[in-house]
Amino acid sequence: MVTYVYDFVEGDRSRSDLLGGKGANLAEMTRLGLPVPPGFTITTDACRAYLADGRVPLRLFDEVNAHLREIEVRLDRRLGDPHDPLLLAVRSGGRYSMPGMMETILDIGLNDTTVAGLAARSGDERFAWDSYRRLIQMFGRTVHGVPAEEFERELASVRAAAGPDGPDAAALRELVETYKKVFAAHVGQDFPQAPHAQLYSAIRAVFSSWNAERAVLYRHREHIPDDLGTAVNVMAMVFGNLGPDSGTGVAFTRDPATGAPGVYGDYLRDAQGEDVVAGIRNTVPLAELERIDPVSFRELKRIMGVLERHYRDLCDVEFTIERGRLWMLQTRVGKRTPAAAFTIAAQLVDEGLITLDEALHRVDGAQLARLMFPAFDLAAAPPPLATGVGASPGAAVGRVVFDSAAAVAADGPVILVRAETNPDDLPGMIAARGVLTSRGGKTSHAAVVARGMGRTCVCGAEALRIDPAGDAFTVGDRVVRAGELISIDGTTGNVYPGEVPVVPSPVARHLAGEPVGREDRLVAAVDRLLAHADAARRLGVRANADTPADARRARAFGAAGIGLCRTEHMFLGARRELVERLILADDPAELTAALDALLPLQRADFVDILAAMDGVPVTVRLLDPPLHEFLPPLHELTARVARAEARGEDPGRDAALLAAVRRMHETNPMLGLRGVRLGLVVPGLFAMQVRAVAEAAAQRVRDGGDPRPEIMVPLVADVRELTVVRAEVQAVLATVPDVPPIPVGTMVEIPRAALTAGDLARAAQFFSFGTNDLTQTTWAFSRDDVEGSFFDTYQERGIFGVSPFETIDATGVGRLVRLATAEGRATRGDLTVGVCGEHGGDPDSVAFFADAGLDYVSCSPYRVPIARLAAGRAAV
Ligand code: ADP
Ligand code: MG
Ligand code: MG
Repeated sequence: MVTYVYDFVEGDRSRSDLLGGKGANLAEMTRLGLPVPPGFTITTDACRAYLADGRVPLRLFDEVNAHLREIEVRLDRRLGDPHDPLLLAVRSGGRYSMPGMMETILDIGLNDTTVAGLAARSGDERFAWDSYRRLIQMFGRTVHGVPAEEFERELASVRAAAGPDGPDAAALRELVETYKKVFAAHVGQDFPQAPHAQLYSAIRAVFSSWNAERAVLYRHREHIPDDLGTAVNVMAMVFGNLGPDSGTGVAFTRDPATGAPGVYGDYLRDAQGEDVVAGIRNTVPLAELERIDPVSFRELKRIMGVLERHYRDLCDVEFTIERGRLWMLQTRVGKRTPAAAFTIAAQLVDEGLITLDEALHRVDGAQLARLMFPAFDLAAAPPPLATGVGASPGAAVGRVVFDSAAAVAADGPVILVRAETNPDDLPGMIAARGVLTSRGGKTSHAAVVARGMGRTCVCGAEALRIDPAGDAFTVGDRVVRAGELISIDGTTGNVYPGEVPVVPSPVARHLAGEPVGREDRLVAAVDRLLAHADAARRLGVRANADTPADARRARAFGAAGIGLCRTEHMFLGARRELVERLILADDPAELTAALDALLPLQRADFVDILAAMDGVPVTVRLLDPPLHEFLPPLHELTARVARAEARGEDPGRDAALLAAVRRMHETNPMLGLRGVRLGLVVPGLFAMQVRAVAEAAAQRVRDGGDPRPEIMVPLVADVRELTVVRAEVQAVLATVPDVPPIPVGTMVEIPRAALTAGDLARAAQFFSFGTNDLTQTTWAFSRDDVEGSFFDTYQERGIFGVSPFETIDATGVGRLVRLATAEGRATRGDLTVGVCGEHGGDPDSVAFFADAGLDYVSCSPYRVPIARLAAGRAAV
């Protein structure tokens, strides 16, 4: 036989599935001997049954009555007793805390008769009538949906008519009469006088509040499953509204904002709990309670100490003082800011309450990420101009510029404002403090690139109208011209006019190797936990870095090498002309000349990067994107050629470029001529890149360095592609003197590569999963198009909770990762296996890769500390 009801003395905190968080913790406090009013919890099982069948399970109310009688015996007071009535609180509380989202009804048991008993027993008539009117209001709203304003309006007029001490007993009694009329008018029947009927209705209403609109919304945002149901806690009322020696409050065992030790909280005299939330009257800081009621204050502090030692974590509590007697109404492990999470975890280690391993589980990568971004001082911020998608966190202030060249040319900090960005904007994105676009979502070009660089980015701020002339944007009737200051918040997506003051992140500065002072409590805590993560983790962390500056930064952040050095940026900017020459070459001599011109430039890039990463691996990926990405866009060329022809001029090179762009046009360029296919089709291209790497390495060797380059071939689907390219690579390496051993490996980013990994490993010395493309090709999702197209629908309809481009799809894409790792290693025992791509910096994905037994992840420099922490957490 299923049990639906548990007394507080029966439960404990491990049973929050069944009893809900609130019920389990009330039971735990009861077991600890703390002053909790007696009560019992109706299980989430009962709620689920009610929600499924539309009626409460048979026997539920029998069980409720049996447990109620126990309370009555213990308190020697009965529900409905006209002389000395027991009153009840009926409180919601699911497995996960959903603050204020569901319902609670207080003062159950009052009616026209018992109100007199309550008045007589308490000696406070005003209190009794006030409690009765609260019941009618809460019951009316929660059980029957009577709009709160209907009652509030009447209450306000009674308050307005009353003197400075508030309405007296007579006024409140009259208010109760009015409330009953309001109730009857809305509900079509009188306010129920039978206390047991009140209780049963309240229980049903709390069950139903699981599906209240706001509760559903909250669950979806917080990824809490919809089918858990809420427990219901029924307990004896205690009264904080019994005069000046009574009151109610909330408190934390440490400061939840900073983690500073010492109790924090708010107290409200002569009040019931919902008054605190409603903000009707101003609370006082908890320290005041020490003056008002030192005995209760000391007792509260003692209890908070007991709770913190017992839960071994920051706790928050709700309490009520009834005529100088303290009652505990709720506790839980409290929510906190990221800064407090780190500080408290380190303090608890110092206090001997938790181990360093446990401390690692008290913080997470997302919190560390938030600590690394500078933040706006919101108290000093004006109302936002517009709001977009917070795509890459940070707080950036700068003068508005509308194109990449202007960003590069500007001397002060600038914000690059574009409808959307493309690879041509890269120099401007590097030069700017932040990037603001009016189109695109979290996976748009602007967002992905900005995140990779740790650059602040707000995208898809649709209210922005960018003037086609490119010297202003408007929002409504407000015009912002080039050169004006704006501030963008990459966490909230807010765009502010003018300069909002910024508070820099001491954590990021410290992790990047700047002197900050270890005496900063937060910095010291982060250091300590990261050091422990490093000691514990088996997963290596490298960085994706394409420039010497990024390489140096990555190293400062703790990267053990470069897992992905893209070579495409080396083809941009001033070198674009050489690439055009390469593409337009129509005889072998011209092709060789173009490649020869590129060689020394690439070599110089590699020398600097290898120097920054001396002694650790640098995985260089051969050219990956389709070549036409390096040519001007079709529409631009068409216009240029047409203009020249209209003027009767010879379009010259533009005509050749236009022909090339037309020739190279692909319907699905991401599935087209790119990656290894380029190497097979464009003679000499990969050979030139390999020579540049090899010669750079040789030079580093001659300079006394320890270069460790690796050559990585992208987009391989079949071992034969790799075999051909590898032979070419090795032929080049053999011609370069002083070259150190350079391993040759492949990206695994196409399902076929993963499925044939056993064969692939014959030709590859290492694998690196390109999880962006692997996700794209496994799901057949075009990463550049899904955002803003159908991903929102997919998330709303529950196809997936987070985008598979954000967190690795463990069941599908992850299965390919596991399979390829196992089969690759079966062929080649010492195969090194890593991940590059955005997932390498996502904490949940890092946990997956650690579990899959990979050797390393590689992520953008700014995410390196986050990946280190996540890898450490995965290991303990
Ligand atoms: P929430 O989950 O929204 O915090 P609660 O169930 O905690 O809702 O109830 C809200 C408030 O009702 C509490 O903060 C407390 O002040 C008051 N309350 C709850 N139980 C009792 C009780 N037994 N006696 C007096 N007040 C209570
Ligand atoms: Mg509460
Ligand atoms: Mg790729």
